Amino acid sequence: MDVVLLGAPGAGKGTQATAVAREVGLLHLATGDMFRDVVARDTPLGREVRQYMERGELVPDELTIQMVVERLREPDAARGVLFDGFPRTVHQAVALDEHLERMGRLLEAAVYLRVREEVLLDRLSGRWTCQSCQATYHVLFQPPARPGRCDRCGGALYQRPDDQRETAVRRLKVYFEHTLPVLEYYRGRGVLREVNGERDIASVRADLLRAIRQRVPQV
Ligand code: ADP
Ligand code: ADP
Ligand code: ZN
Repeated sequence: MDVVLLGAPGAGKGTQATAVAREVGLLHLATGDMFRDVVARDTPLGREVRQYMERGELVPDELTIQMVVERLREPDAARGVLFDGFPRTVHQAVALDEHLERMGRLLEAAVYLRVREEVLLDRLSGRWTCQSCQATYHVLFQPPARPGRCDRCGGALYQRPDDQRETAVRRLKVYFEHTLPVLEYYRGRGVLREVNGERDIASVRADLLRAIRQRVPQV
C-alpha cells in the first residue's frame, strides 16, 4: 500500500505522518526533510537545492523525482510508503504513478489536510523544528516539554529560515499555483479523501486514520 498526505505548508503533515505511518506500517518519506539533509551536507547539489529552498520555490521536478525514485529502491520502502510533501506538482504525481506501476504497486489513497490560509500562517510563524530528527513543535499550539529541546530526541530546536513571514507567504503562493492542481488529479483518479486539519492534533490523527482505512480496510 502507498499513501500520499497532501496539504499546504503548515497544514500539519509532518506532525501527523510519523505516528500515522507507524500505525499503518508504512515508511514515512518526507521530501522536505530529505532536502534539508542534502543541504546540510554542503555539496554542489546541496548548494543548488538550498537556493530554491531559501527562496520558497520548488526544487525542480527532475531532481525531486530522481531523489524519491532512488529512495523507493531501498529495502525499507518495500512495505509501502506514506509520502509527505510529495508530490507537489502534477508532473511529480504522474511520475509517481508511473514509477509505482513499474514496481507493481499502486497509490491507494491521497488524503488532503484542509486548513485555511490565515491558520497556516499562524502555524508557520510559531513553528520550531528539531535540528536532529526534524520533529516540529509550536510555541503556542504544541510547546515542547523543555523550552528549545526536542521531546523525542533531545535535539536543539530552531526556526526554519523559510518559515519567516515573507518566504512563508511565497511558499503558500507556490502551493496554490503548483500543488492545488494535484488535488484535482487525485480527485479524478477517485482516491482523494479530505480531512479537516484545523481540529486538535489527536482528532486530526483519528480522522486521518479513518480516511486511510476507508480506502484500505485491511490496515
Ligand atoms: P512544509 O513542511 O512547510 O510544507 P517541506 O519541509 O515539505 O515544507 O518543504 C520545504 C522546501 O523543500 C519546499 O519549500 C521546497 O523548496 C522543497 N521541497 C520539498 N518537497 C518538494 C517537492 N516535492 N518538490 C519540490 N520541492 C520540494
Ligand atoms: P507541515 O509538515 O504540513 O508543513 P507541521 O506538521 O510542521 O506542518 O505543522 C506546522 C505547525 O503547526 C507546527 O508548528 C505544528 O506544531 C503545528 N500544528 C500541527 N498540527 C496542528 C493542529 N492540529 N493544531 C494546532 N497546531 C498544529
Ligand atoms: Zn528531535
